Amino acid sequence: MPFDPVPGLLAPATELLEQQFVSLPTHHPIIDSPAIAQVLAATAHRLADNYPYFHPLYAGQMLKPPHPVARAAYALAMSINPNNHARDGGRASSEMEIEAVREIAAMFGWDQFLGHLTSSGTIANLEALWVSGQLAPGKRIVASVQAHYTHNRISAVLQLPYSSIPADNRGRMCLDALEAELRKGDVGTVVVTLGTTAIGAVDPLPEILALRSRFGFRIHVDSAYGGYFCLIPDALDEPARLAFTAINQADSIVVDPHKHGLQPYGCGCVLFRDPAVGRFYKHSSPYTYFTSKQLHLGEISIECSRAGAAAVALWATHQLLPLVPGGDFAHGLAQGRAAALELDRRLRADNRFQPLAAGAPELDIVVWKLNASTPQRASELAQKIFQAAAARDLHLALVELPLICFQHEPVPSGHDPATVTCLRSVLMKPEHKAWLGRIWDRLTAATAETMGG
Ligand SMILES: *Cc1c(COP(=O)(O)O)cnc(C)c1O
Repeated sequence: MPFDPVPGLLAPATELLEQQFVSLPTHHPIIDSPAIAQVLAATAHRLADNYPYFHPLYAGQMLKPPHPVARAAYALAMSINPNNHARDGGRASSEMEIEAVREIAAMFGWDQFLGHLTSSGTIANLEALWVSGQLAPGKRIVASVQAHYTHNRISAVLQLPYSSIPADNRGRMCLDALEAELRKGDVGTVVVTLGTTAIGAVDPLPEILALRSRFGFRIHVDSAYGGYFCLIPDALDEPARLAFTAINQADSIVVDPHKHGLQPYGCGCVLFRDPAVGRFYKHSSPYTYFTSKQLHLGEISIECSRAGAAAVALWATHQLLPLVPGGDFAHGLAQGRAAALELDRRLRADNRFQPLAAGAPELDIVVWKLNASTPQRASELAQKIFQAAAARDLHLALVELPLICFQHEPVPSGHDPATVTCLRSVLMKPEHKAWLGRIWDRLTAATAETMGG
C-alpha cells in the first residue's frame, strides 16, 4: 500500500533524534491520546474525499506524490519544527537548505549564485520579478500567453507594467512578436517559460538570448515545472534540449521541488546568477538575528517564517537521489517522458483523437482534442470522456487550448482566439511508464462508451 512505509521508516530515526536530547530534564507533553485518535479517525474519513493522487491511474494534473524519504524526513523534522527564517530558528535545517539549494544550482550549472527555498513557485517568481523591478524600475515585464497566469498578477502587485506575447501552435513564445515588443525600448524582463503548465511547451531560450545581446533586458526563466528536465537532455527533442542547455545563461531561475522534485507542498526555489542582488533584501530586524554572524536565509528572502522541514525533506531526498544525469532521479523523469511519448504515439494512430499538430510533447504533458465536426462537439466529448474515464478510476485533466494548436499550417501571430476543450494528462510519475497499457485501456474504453466504435 502506498501509505505504509513511512511510519516504519520513521520510528528508528525518531528514537535516534530523541537520544541526542537525553541530557535535558525529562518533560512529557500532556496529550489526550484517545481524543486525538478519535479526531484522526474523523480526519481520515474527510481525506478520502480526494482524487487518488498517489496512484499511477491518477494521470491528470501536475501532482506527484512526495518520495517516502521526503515524507519521513519532513515528519522527523516536525519533532523540532525548525523555522528557516534565520539560524536562530533552525541551525541544522538552514545548513541543509544551503546545501540542497547549492545542489539545485549545480544542476543548472551555477556554482556562484544567490538563492534559497520559498514556500512556492509563485513566491519564487515574485522574488525574481521584484529584483527585476529593483534593477529597472518601471520597465515592462513580458511573458508568453502560455506563461503561468500568476506573472500578470505578480506584476500588478509589484506595480510593474506587464504584457503577454502570442504563442505559436505548440505553445512557444513567438519570436517575431517578442522582437516587435523589444523594439519599443521599455522591456525590462522577459519571462521565459521552460515547460509551460498547460502543455509543457519550452520557449526558445537560445533565440531569446540572442535577442538579449541586441536589445539588453533581463531573462527570468520560469521552470517551476520543467527545471529538472535539464538532467535528461538526451531524452528531449532538439529545441527543448538546446533551451535547457542554455539555462545557465539566464539571470534568474525558478524551479519547484514540490512539482517534479518529489517534495511535499511548500517547496519552491529561486536562484539569481549575480549574488550582488542580495543588496536589495537588506533590512534590519530587531528581533530575528542574534546567534550567528553568518548568512541568514531570512536576509535574502522576501518571506520571514518558512518551513525548515521543507529544507530537511529536500536535503534527505538529494542524499538518496542525487540530482545528476544518469542517476535514479533522472531515470524516474525519463520514465515519465517515455510514457508521454508512448501515449502520444498511440493517440496519433487512433483517428478518434487529435494530438498537437506540431508534433510530439516536449516534456511529459500530453494534450489532445477529440475529432468531431465542430469545436463545440469536440469540447463536449472531452468533458464526457473525462467523466467516463474517472468512472473507470482513470483520472485525466481538461484544458482549454487555442484551436491553432491543432492546425498544420503555420499561423500568423495575432490570429484566432477561438479555443477548444481538450483532454490533458501529466505523466510525471515514474510508474506511469509501466502503467501506460492500463491507462490506455481505460481511456479507449471510456472513449468507446462516449463516441461508440
Ligand atoms: C506551477 C507553476 C507556477 C506556480 O508555482 P506554485 O508552486 O504553484 O505557486 C509557476 N510557473 C509555472 C511554469 C508553473 O508550472
